[in-house]
Amino acid sequence: MKRIDALRRQMRDKELEAVLVQKPENRYYLSGFTGTTGSVLITLEDQFFLTDFRYVAQAKSQCPGYTIIQISQAEPIYHHINQHVSGKLGFEDDFFTVEQYGLYRSKLEAEMIPLKRLIEDLRVIKDDTEIELIHKAQQIADQAFDHILGFIEPGVTELEVADELIRVMKLLGASGESFQIIVASGVRGAMPHGVASDKKIEAGELVTMDFGCMYRGYASDMTRTVAVGEVSEELKAIYQTVLKAQETALAAIKPGLTGQELDTIARDIITEAGYSDHFGHGLGHGVGLEIHERPGINQIGTEKLQPGMIITDEPGIYIDDVGGVRIEDLILVTQDGYEVLSTSPKELIVLPT
Ligand code: ZN
Ligand code: ZN
Repeated sequence: MKRIDALRRQMRDKELEAVLVQKPENRYYLSGFTGTTGSVLITLEDQFFLTDFRYVAQAKSQCPGYTIIQISQAEPIYHHINQHVSGKLGFEDDFFTVEQYGLYRSKLEAEMIPLKRLIEDLRVIKDDTEIELIHKAQQIADQAFDHILGFIEPGVTELEVADELIRVMKLLGASGESFQIIVASGVRGAMPHGVASDKKIEAGELVTMDFGCMYRGYASDMTRTVAVGEVSEELKAIYQTVLKAQETALAAIKPGLTGQELDTIARDIITEAGYSDHFGHGLGHGVGLEIHERPGINQIGTEKLQPGMIITDEPGIYIDDVGGVRIEDLILVTQDGYEVLSTSPKELIVLPT
């Protein structure tokens, strides 16, 4: 109930009588409900879970402390909300469609107030349970990486590598991948978001794998770039530059630093090496119930790091017709610095051909 208590403190500050939560990640965060249909209604004194008959039993078992209300065509959600709220009702303005908003406005007695991502604000700082689950999700990804090193060889396609990563992560307890897995080999490595294709991996290429899994609702995220046999001096030099940028930024992580300051630390190293035009994305992002959350670690990142945030550090260099390198760790910000959750080695691994 700590999460609901924190929400109620915000509700009192904002003079909200109740909030309505339907975005799946926010709903899960507050209630533990994993189904696909249901609404959380939190008032200053009570918490209700509203769903149709298909999910009543599931809500009863997953949402302790909630009063479960069954909605129906005869008694739709508005009917029940009107029984409990007549003042200001916060709603997820980033999630409602225009159609839904019009409908709710016409049916509800309450005044609808945009929440402006209030629940996401609470989610930025992870509690111990969340840290444990994200850590576990990352451990699964690290184990899958260790396995995939023995799987990659010339002739294997990027898609086969992606499928094998997913297979192993599921075997280790993941519910699935946390985003469409990136496997970019050779010149395709120049595409920062080169999702796995049917291209065969060849000797002399770098292979960038950016992947993670979902474990009990929480995401992990990591990237490693490995060599298949000997690669060119240019690719080796790029690798060392990215590694230096990644490790220098990592060592600087501590509460109080802004996303922009952290991004600049890595960016300066890449710029000094002459690759400023080849690092076209931000250094990192928050990770939690969603793969991309606040805080943004980039040139417009004004938010300060705080203990309990979980972020990535993932610089890269991408050169058309040559290839690319990205190295990404998942990191917990602590009171006095940081703890790296990803454990896979970062020195260039050269796989046998
Ligand atoms: Zn990633
Ligand atoms: Zn990432």
